[in-house]
Amino acid sequence: MRRKEGLMADRYQQFTKSPVGKFLVPKLGLPSPAVLRRYQPGQAPLDGPALFGAAPGGRLEKTVKIQLADAGIDVLTEPVDDQRYGALVFDATGITDPKQLRELYLFFHPVIRKVGASGRVLVLGTPPELVEGRERIAQRALEGFTRSVGKELKRGATVQLVYVAPGAEEAAESTLRFLLSAKSAFVDGQVVRVGTEGIPEVPRPESWEKPLAGKVALVTGASRGIGASIAEVFARDGAHVVALDIPAQGADLSAVANRIGGSALQLDITAADAPEKLASYLKERHDGVDIVVHNAGITRDKTLGNLTEGAWDAVLTVNLAAQLAVNDKLLADKVLRKNGRIIGVSSMAGIAGNVGQTNYATSKAGVIGMVNDSAPKLAEYGGTINAVAPGFIETQMTAAIPLFIREAGRRLSSLGQGGLPVDVAETIAWFANPASAAVNGNVVRVCGQALLGA
Ligand code: NAD
Repeated sequence: MRRKEGLMADRYQQFTKSPVGKFLVPKLGLPSPAVLRRYQPGQAPLDGPALFGAAPGGRLEKTVKIQLADAGIDVLTEPVDDQRYGALVFDATGITDPKQLRELYLFFHPVIRKVGASGRVLVLGTPPELVEGRERIAQRALEGFTRSVGKELKRGATVQLVYVAPGAEEAAESTLRFLLSAKSAFVDGQVVRVGTEGIPEVPRPESWEKPLAGKVALVTGASRGIGASIAEVFARDGAHVVALDIPAQGADLSAVANRIGGSALQLDITAADAPEKLASYLKERHDGVDIVVHNAGITRDKTLGNLTEGAWDAVLTVNLAAQLAVNDKLLADKVLRKNGRIIGVSSMAGIAGNVGQTNYATSKAGVIGMVNDSAPKLAEYGGTINAVAPGFIETQMTAAIPLFIREAGRRLSSLGQGGLPVDVAETIAWFANPASAAVNGNVVRVCGQALLGA
């Protein structure tokens, strides 16, 4: 597994860091993707202090400053000459009229070039759909600002817009921690909503290092690629992982489960009796499950005119129908515990569409539909459902793409490189965190701000 991932390394990125590459790349005007800072236990959250600013009348200043300080972040409220910032955080909730959007310019213009390598920019607003008139217009406008900043930032720095519903200020902590840390290395240009499906009681984890302690998590398709990485990150965060995959992947599956001290469950999720078998397994062995990640997925690519009926059915069944059947069973039999989490794995193809992927994109857009439809239902008993939409991630799935298309896929994003399975896994772990109880109904792309599509 490790050896295979090594083989799939981004050779071009390695070349740009070599002596010859360092000489040639700037001379030829070639892209030079940054080495992204990634999470290590015990690491400082940011590489430098955070500069905090607010438009007059903002409601987040007090809570956010406390939350950042609790996370071990040094917070400055005035710019300092010659300072490189680990992050810029701006509370834009005070902007209630489009005229006040110039507050964005006033805060960011003098300091935007001082964001350090793998630095973070966060804009905090009010969900536009929860306000009216000019405030709604002004808050919606924040999206254009943040998405453009993402395209301008260099050296692996990222930007996100977090809409915090009134009353959800405290509930935004896990989200701020995730987006400011190296765990969100490949999440860029995203819009996240906290608290729009109602604001439940949000527990603070006893340990931010082991937020999933005592939780049982099911991860499908866990024998390799993104699924194996999700299983590893969940185990690192303290969960007992039930790693599921098809019997043909049994050996790899056991290796993953053994490595993380979890359980291996061989099951084809498309089998007619799979929901029943899964529900009884989870009930009998663990008296239920706290977190379900629907990661198993397949592709059968052909343009629509060449696509067989079998290829259409196989993709729609694994990537969507089987997940809906499992959810229905786990909810009906109350196997998913109170405050449970369901997490889907969509795809950029499900948002933007892709040539040769009518079946796959339909299934992955359906995953977004599943999130939209189920979020209010899960909120009724303190649960959440969210999805990630990965862009180009370095796995066996993307290693199979022809060389030139693969190279284009890697470079055509603001971060100019593919992501790693762990980048998707960290995002899923943020959704799974008990402290993310007010993060419901979101679809977050893990795509380095892919430049193609929607
Ligand atoms: P992968 O092919 O390496 O792993 C998928 C796993 O799912 C495999 O182990 C496979 O055996 C398992 N699986 C397939 N059918 C199953 C079934 N019927 N029952 C149980 N398990 C089954 O793929 P990956 O690249 O790790 O992708 C994981 C998920 O991420 C998929 O849903 C994929 O669509 C999605 N995704 C991947 C990328 C990417 O760039 N790699 C991009 C967007 C979305």
